[in-house]
Amino acid sequence: MAQPQLDFDHFRRRLEEMRQSLQAETESLGDEVANINQQEGYGVKNHPAEDATEVFTRERSLAIETQLQRELQQIDHALERIEAGTYGVCEVGGETIPVERLEARPLATLCIQHQRERDEQEGGTTRTVV
Ligand SMILES: [Zn+2]
Repeated sequence: MAQPQLDFDHFRRRLEEMRQSLQAETESLGDEVANINQQEGYGVKNHPAEDATEVFTRERSLAIETQLQRELQQIDHALERIEAGTYGVCEVGGETIPVERLEARPLATLCIQHQRERDEQEGGTTRTVV
């Protein structure tokens, strides 16, 4: 099951790079949401239609932020698995995850089959693959 030929250092570097860019993105998004929240009128029920664009922007930002946080968690989790020496092995079934999949998606800790099953369990929503 183990992949002794897998270059953990290579994937650790890639995950850390992804982590840094995600954190930068999260911070800039946080600023955007904070700015919108500060704008007068948001959340006031008297003018339900006027702030539609702002509400949309805010909700979209929050949705992206949630997605980014989720990916950060996945990156941390993948890094933990590198430290534990279990990186590259499917968490559910113990299959070897093909190195091509890890190159395309270094935060993957499931094989494609089990990832698909988990996505379906979580509502089958289409998510952006980084
Ligand atoms: Zn699997």
